Amino acid sequence: MRILISNDDGYLAPGINALAEALAPIADIVVVAPDSNRSGASNSLSLDRPLSVQRAANGFYFVNGTPTDCVHVALTGMLDYRPDLVVSGINNGPNMGDDTLYSGTVAAATEGFLFGIPAIAFSQGSYGWANIEDAARHARDIVQRYFDTLPKPYLLNVNIPNRPYAELGKVVATRLGRRHQAEPVIRALDPRGKEIFWIGPPGATKDAGEGTDFYACAQGQTSMTPLQIDLTHKTQLETLAKGLE
Ligand code: MN
Repeated sequence: MRILISNDDGYLAPGINALAEALAPIADIVVVAPDSNRSGASNSLSLDRPLSVQRAANGFYFVNGTPTDCVHVALTGMLDYRPDLVVSGINNGPNMGDDTLYSGTVAAATEGFLFGIPAIAFSQGSYGWANIEDAARHARDIVQRYFDTLPKPYLLNVNIPNRPYAELGKVVATRLGRRHQAEPVIRALDPRGKEIFWIGPPGATKDAGEGTDFYACAQGQTSMTPLQIDLTHKTQLETLAKGLE
């Protein structure tokens, strides 16, 4: 099996190192990741400048671009083969509910899926990298167990609680929960006295009920959500069509 690995925290992040180490014994892996932290990059492509690919001492490739750039360049320019699977992560912190729209971790997997390749985005339930090696071993279990058993191609969003390996195991199928609107920007003054803004934290959970990714992770379970690309609001489509007649 050949696996393309990317992330949004950058090629030096502990999460992608742990994931690559865990997957190397079971697959031919190649790592192509951003040269810096591009969390929140969503599905953006860099169209205003060229991209360059460099190889680090450990064999990882890094790109001066977004997670989507990385997977796009790998699939359409770098690799002379088609990977069997694209995995992304493991992200520093959760990607649940509305987070998935902003996430570069999910976006890297999505780019693989758009090319018809099965793809899995992995994130940890909490920030700070606690138990990252346990999460990576658990991610390998998931790849081994589900790679061939699910109808392909699939796009899976997986959130793993920060727990020791022995306490991981139960994987539950979930739907995305919802958050309240994001907190306001944080205002500050730059050293020259000019007002600046930092994007604030995401909103608190709004729909975190049973069946959601938020609920599963809060119960200490690994959440697995199958994603799709089509954002069409199918129930409004007919109403809209009538309204436009
Ligand atoms: Mn990230």
